[in-house]
Amino acid sequence: MKFGDYEIFLLEDGEFRLDGGAMFGVVPRVLWARTDAPDDRNRIRLAANCLLIKGDGFNALIDTGLGGKWDDKEREMFAVAEPRTLITDLARVDLHPDEITHVIQTHLHFDHVGGATLIDAEGTLKIQFPNAKVFVQKGEWETANDPNPRDRRSYKPENLNPLKENGVLELIEGDGEILPGISVTVTGGHTKHHQLVTLRSNGSTLVYLGDLIPTPSHLPVPYVMAYDLDPEQTMAAKAPLLEEADEAGWLLVFEHSAGVKAGHLQRGEKGRLELVPFDIDQTEYTPKN
Ligand SMILES: [Zn+2]
Repeated sequence: MKFGDYEIFLLEDGEFRLDGGAMFGVVPRVLWARTDAPDDRNRIRLAANCLLIKGDGFNALIDTGLGGKWDDKEREMFAVAEPRTLITDLARVDLHPDEITHVIQTHLHFDHVGGATLIDAEGTLKIQFPNAKVFVQKGEWETANDPNPRDRRSYKPENLNPLKENGVLELIEGDGEILPGISVTVTGGHTKHHQLVTLRSNGSTLVYLGDLIPTPSHLPVPYVMAYDLDPEQTMAAKAPLLEEADEAGWLLVFEHSAGVKAGHLQRGEKGRLELVPFDIDQTEYTPKN
């Protein structure tokens, strides 16, 4: 889809499942089960939606999904399914992994950075995008390499070491512009240095929410994941963002939604914010306002 001066594509790196209770924190199951029906192991269906931004002289990828480095036990535990992958979706838009120039990581949990590396036919661990610089918050990198016991399962050395060994890391500190029109904003909350990515062009704004608001079911401010390190900080970042997104007509992209993946906000009954779905596979962007 054309978005101002850019072309954007949603690429899906497979589906997986996580415990519904963990995905909704203090929200009772009777409430979240209405929108996200759990399976017989109490898991809900999620996707890993990555965003490709094609601009003048660059192909930037926002997050890299689950990747394929799973053993059978993990595949079963997380119900990893690959009707599509980042690589098959890239091929669909006529791009080879070598042509990716920038990767921006919201954070380094396995379901966000797993696709930045692969194990080749000889069993060697490699980087997936050899010509891309990988932008990540310095604090996130440090946390990932020295995780606390609660985070240890989310930060996997095989997702991190190849990035360092190949010299592709660009450690950034705080908010800033990575490419013309593409900037990052540190939100904290989910992880201490979690960041979201904003694309602005010709008066239109798109926000890739990462794990700040992982699916449209998480739009209500208290619907915060139990995975979040600091739920108060998540809410403090989320509430003003939703207000602004509604007023300014931002297009929101939900990284973990297996259903509606993007949309605009509107005020529904009792002034509650609701999502008007938007299909990114359309050919041209029509701003809300
Ligand atoms: Zn996630």
